Amino acid sequence: MNNPLLEKFNTPHSTAPFSKIKNEHFKPAFKEAIALAKTEIDNITNNQETPTFENTIEALDFSGYKLDRISSVFFNLNSAETNDEIQKIAQEVSPWLSEFSNDIGLNELLFERVKLIYDNQDSLELSTEQKTLLDKKYKGFTRNGANLNDSDKEQLREIDKNLSKLSLQFGENLLAETNAYELYIKDENQLDGLPDGTKEAAHLLAKQQQKEGWIITLDYPSYIPFMTYAKDRKLREEISTAFGARAFQGNKNDNQNIVLDIVKLRNERANLLGYKTHAHFVLEERMAETPEKVLSFSNELLAKAKPAAEREFKQLTEFAKKDGIEQLQKWDGAYYSEKLKKELFDLDQEALKPYFKLENVIDGVFTIAGKLFDLQFRKVNTIDKYHEEVLTYEVTNSTGDFVSVFYADFFPRKGKRNGAWMTSYKSQWKKNDDNSRPHVSIVCNFTKPTETKPSLLTFNEVTTLFHEFGHALHGMLANTTYPSLSGTSVYWDFVELPSQLLENWCYEKEALDLFAKHYETNEPIPMDLVQKIKESASFLEGIQTLRQLSFGLLDMSWHGAGGPPEAITSVKDYENKAFSETQLYPDVAENCMSTAFAHIFQGGYSSGYYSYKWAEVLDADAFEYFKETGIFNKETATKFAATILSKGGTEKPMILYKRFRGKEPNADALLKRAGLV
Ligand SMILES: [Zn+2]
Repeated sequence: MNNPLLEKFNTPHSTAPFSKIKNEHFKPAFKEAIALAKTEIDNITNNQETPTFENTIEALDFSGYKLDRISSVFFNLNSAETNDEIQKIAQEVSPWLSEFSNDIGLNELLFERVKLIYDNQDSLELSTEQKTLLDKKYKGFTRNGANLNDSDKEQLREIDKNLSKLSLQFGENLLAETNAYELYIKDENQLDGLPDGTKEAAHLLAKQQQKEGWIITLDYPSYIPFMTYAKDRKLREEISTAFGARAFQGNKNDNQNIVLDIVKLRNERANLLGYKTHAHFVLEERMAETPEKVLSFSNELLAKAKPAAEREFKQLTEFAKKDGIEQLQKWDGAYYSEKLKKELFDLDQEALKPYFKLENVIDGVFTIAGKLFDLQFRKVNTIDKYHEEVLTYEVTNSTGDFVSVFYADFFPRKGKRNGAWMTSYKSQWKKNDDNSRPHVSIVCNFTKPTETKPSLLTFNEVTTLFHEFGHALHGMLANTTYPSLSGTSVYWDFVELPSQLLENWCYEKEALDLFAKHYETNEPIPMDLVQKIKESASFLEGIQTLRQLSFGLLDMSWHGAGGPPEAITSVKDYENKAFSETQLYPDVAENCMSTAFAHIFQGGYSSGYYSYKWAEVLDADAFEYFKETGIFNKETATKFAATILSKGGTEKPMILYKRFRGKEPNADALLKRAGLV
């Protein structure tokens, strides 16, 4: 069978031949590409010559190239243009892929070679990038136990098995608890304040159960609007308390013991591998590097944000007094914040949309990329695409050299998952004299055009486009040798710098003047509207900051900062201790955050929650540099591209950042931007 996935991609810039690919091509292509990748690994381990950086580390990084290309086509389609058949294939091939990567991880012959090179690296003349790659490959083995003796290896596998079971159980319990509750409302007066859409959704939920009236659940789309808009304070209290009590009710879905078991096992695992705590293990591969750094960063931000948070809390309390409320409770926060915001700003999102026609915003972001990085975007129709709505571009630099292929897929449709993301179909790398350029894509779910109106974006959609485009620039401007270090392949707490940085241009007059024009009258966006957007964006930022910090500190506390986990007996007491400096609202005794903290106990955010604030500190600090020198200053932009965007993960992020900024980042710019100082 002719399989376009297995043939050489005979297309402009070797882009994926979407129009020729059929679903039945995927499985045979995966099979053959995995076999090919295995052969490539075997060729490394069977090589009779002495292990060298080139014949082992470099060969390893360039192995599995065909498999990578096929995987990226397949899994990107599964996100952006899926169907039942693709989903079924995904379920079949995913285990093949994990088995293949597990086999590499357990390949002792391969590790022996890697270790030999790692141990002798001082005698080799390696470049900085090569050293980073060597370190990455070596750690990829040792962080999974390759250096342990057989009985410790056995123990590690046992821990990993238990940990994945516990995380799964944690998630199942939480889901069961979320689903177990609903608030059934028969009296429409109790829905006072809710927007029509929320009411309708609540009515629909009731109807699905053949009931009259309305149902509110603990799912976010139902819970959040209710807490934000429902006037009935008693009901807000009821549902908020139910939400906070999830997996903390002493029933079969209780997560307290699971939390204690998880933190113990994570600590044990870290110790076994030679790390002091789980946080030390995680942070080894982060820009923040150590728990001490995360804690000092968090506490410094806390000290500076707390007075502002307390001021805002007082303001909110005063505001709520009109309704006869003396003590603001947790179930009052969202409701009064929203009311106060409306009173202070009365920002009409609809009034903004005519200034953000999608085509204008795209032009805007391209113009900005041109002014900053000398990039040119040319729409081309010769590049094959997976859906007619996808836009395809050729990106070139000031000398006309080809930089990247850029795909943009903007509108929601059946088969596309929610949200917005950047991805790539091919990474950048260099081999011999060839600098093979990347194929970058952004996928969004923006407001569609109608018969009478073009696509007019909300401001939120505008910042989303800039955000994803910032990631895309990281991919497009990549200029590294090794594919696994290229573009956005950077530490986790560093990857949001380019994306969040780019969002800043959305708030600047100089930038908005380039594209934010009324789609009918061509009139530029009124700056008082922009000022309002800016101010409302940092509304109650002190309280928000404290809240984010409280979660980050709780996370750190569970993973080492709170002392040895064996000593912990009460989840609730332990949590309250971790929260002691960050709480504005009175404690609710029957509520617990940790038993529902899915980010860290179910998902992959353990010892990583701080990254949200960390990324904000970074982008504000970096943008401050642009503001100091001019937001379109070529020199600053060129420096950013040279020190950060083009470097990917070739060096430690703190080193890259300092090379750009001349100093380590600090929170001052963020505090200033957020109006906290
Ligand atoms: Zn992002």
